[in-house]
Amino acid sequence: MRKLIIAIDGPVGSGKSTVARRVADLLGYTHLDSGAMYRAVAWKALCDGIPLDSPAELEALASRVRIDLVPSGGKLHVILDGEDITDWIRTPEVSHAASLVAVVPGVRRPMVAEQRRAGAQGGVVMEGRDIGSVVFPHADLKIYLDASPEVRAGRRWRELQEKGEASDPLMVLAEVRERDRRDREREMSPLVRVADAVVVDNTAMDAEETARVIVLLAQEKVNAAAH
Ligand code: C5P
Repeated sequence: MRKLIIAIDGPVGSGKSTVARRVADLLGYTHLDSGAMYRAVAWKALCDGIPLDSPAELEALASRVRIDLVPSGGKLHVILDGEDITDWIRTPEVSHAASLVAVVPGVRRPMVAEQRRAGAQGGVVMEGRDIGSVVFPHADLKIYLDASPEVRAGRRWRELQEKGEASDPLMVLAEVRERDRRDREREMSPLVRVADAVVVDNTAMDAEETARVIVLLAQEKVNAAAH
């Protein structure tokens, strides 16, 4: 049976990572989190003191680092130049920096090339902002995952609480809105809902329900291709 390329795009807090991982599990596919690659570049820039407003230095950094996404122990490990940085790239500081480095075309180019290489064989669930629009415009199934800004900010806030990082819910909502704005308004590969994407609004659904809806849609695609 042919294995699909499934693209899941959506704004911060729409549940992409949890849902994409679960869809991949249910279908026996590989989960690829493209945002983790921008986070890895941002993390390295912060560590090396590279100014986040210097496109030339960020481009040079993005083309010299090697980023591998390695599934292991039910989790996707992010390896940068051989070092496992998975646990360091989910801080608010890196989130903020990632959305700044992601506006730089010279950063996006090598990331997109690597994402295409990683997904080319199919059997992947890739999540991000531009997967259905730029990385795999011919993906077999495109999902635009969304939820209200308040619900998305609530999810981010709970995640931070669980990690013991105190935060003000209103500040989290403001940061979510700011990252939405930057993702939607940037010139290169903005977050858009492409015409052939299925919109799944999970404001009132949990991750398991959302994943099962997407698996049903994937099975329909597989069945349609078989007939
Ligand atoms: O999805 P996540 O929040 O981990 O992504 C981190 C940042 O990387 C986002 O704020 C977004 O700006 C950027 N990103 C992107 N294109 C993608 C995935 C993520 O610009 N395909």
